[in-house]
Amino acid sequence: MRFPLHITLDSIRHQMRNGLKGNKRYPMVMMLEPLYTCNLACIGCSTERHTGKLKDRVPLENCFKALDDCGAPIVSICGGEPTLYPELKELIEGIIARKRHIYLCTNALCLEKKVYGKIDPHKRLTINIHLDGMRETHDMVCAKEGVFDEAIAMLKEGKRLGYHMYTNTTVYRETSMEEVEELCEVCVAAGVDGMLIAPGYQYSSVDKDIFLSRQQINEKFKRVLELSKRYRLSSTPMYLEFAAGMRNYNCSPWSTVTYTPNGWKGPCYLIGKNFFETWDEFWNTTDWEYWESRQDKLCQNCMMHSGFEASAVFELKHSPKDMVRMAAWNLLG
Ligand code: SF4
Repeated sequence: MRFPLHITLDSIRHQMRNGLKGNKRYPMVMMLEPLYTCNLACIGCSTERHTGKLKDRVPLENCFKALDDCGAPIVSICGGEPTLYPELKELIEGIIARKRHIYLCTNALCLEKKVYGKIDPHKRLTINIHLDGMRETHDMVCAKEGVFDEAIAMLKEGKRLGYHMYTNTTVYRETSMEEVEELCEVCVAAGVDGMLIAPGYQYSSVDKDIFLSRQQINEKFKRVLELSKRYRLSSTPMYLEFAAGMRNYNCSPWSTVTYTPNGWKGPCYLIGKNFFETWDEFWNTTDWEYWESRQDKLCQNCMMHSGFEASAVFELKHSPKDMVRMAAWNLLG
């Protein structure tokens, strides 16, 4: 199976529970950014995500409260660099105790020191390594030499130690799709369990001109769609067809909610128009209908999986053919 059975079943149970309650909108993924401290300053990253002080990190109990409040079955721990969070072990253990699934998103530089041998492999824990290209490109994106070699070494070591290992690649305007294919080959040879390839999004605080227009996303993702037939990509075929310009969806910004050192971020993972102290305030005052419609100018070039993967899944009920394709994609992947 493309996704382990326990993740698939928990996600289906979560959807059924919400369906029975009549909920039209509910989170599937919580992006937990427990700190805005990082050991890199990548060129595509928003400034606030790597300039924060460690003392301003989210206290452990607030992370758990946020998780309990939103109820998402999947937690993506990112940041900043989450391996720098001093209470990472307790955080991961607490999330596992709540029977949620974790993607630990990391640049891999501290995996050896902070994770391997300190936090045991677990079926609910996936380590997700950032890799934006082959050596020269990735080191340029990370603004530091040696990051690519370390990431590949840690991918192999993670597999050797029994962790579930993913990679996460952002496609920028200059990204060569031949290079993305070469990267897929390298990751497969290293034993990767799954690969996420996403289009870059221009955060308001990033002034570098490296991001894609919608037309450029469509062109690049036609190639990604081809790659998905040969490699274990974790994006659904429907989402990839959307990114390739072959389908249209409204956004589902509420499906991926983001908790940060500044509180709940609204309306979505990408846009921090407002930050809220409490879940109720965030959930009940955000104008979901407006953001679903993609009419805001900040949404014009956005085709991010955090907004649209859920739309692809929620639309399945209208197409038995897509439902069968999705089941086959997961079962046979
Ligand atoms: S389209 Fe993109 S930027 Fe707009 S609300 Fe959805 S995820 Fe956010």
